[in-house]
Amino acid sequence: MDCLFCKIAAGQIPSSKVYEDDTVYAFRDIAPQAPVHVLIIPKEHIASLQEMDEKHNALLGHMFAVAREIAVSEGVDKTGYRIISNVGDDAGQSVKHLHLHLIGGKQLKWDN
Ligand code: 5GP
Ligand code: ZN
Repeated sequence: MDCLFCKIAAGQIPSSKVYEDDTVYAFRDIAPQAPVHVLIIPKEHIASLQEMDEKHNALLGHMFAVAREIAVSEGVDKTGYRIISNVGDDAGQSVKHLHLHLIGGKQLKWDN
């Protein structure tokens, strides 16, 4: 599988790791849009949220639980943050491996 985020999760391409367990990997975005910008990905290759189904419910719930933990460790749980997952071309999804963006550390705008 020639997938950038699969390679990052496997440690074949370096990244700034924030969190890892058996099923999830999280790392700093290479082009941060805010002081805190972490990507949370499943180790399993799933192209996007649209490719998930009921069997992924536990994994998706776990990814959000990890996001809450990272919000605490990054110090934005009290000040607030945003979780985004881009799906497909209109959203500008550039890496076809499911990822949650956790963005915070400044007042965020909503310009779409
Ligand atoms: P998307 O546009 O698909 O929602 O988000 C992809 C994100 O991955 C972008 O924010 C981009 O900056 C980030 N990204 C792309 N390539 C790399 C990389 O090699 N390393 C890291 N850490 N982030 C990357
Ligand atoms: Zn992948």
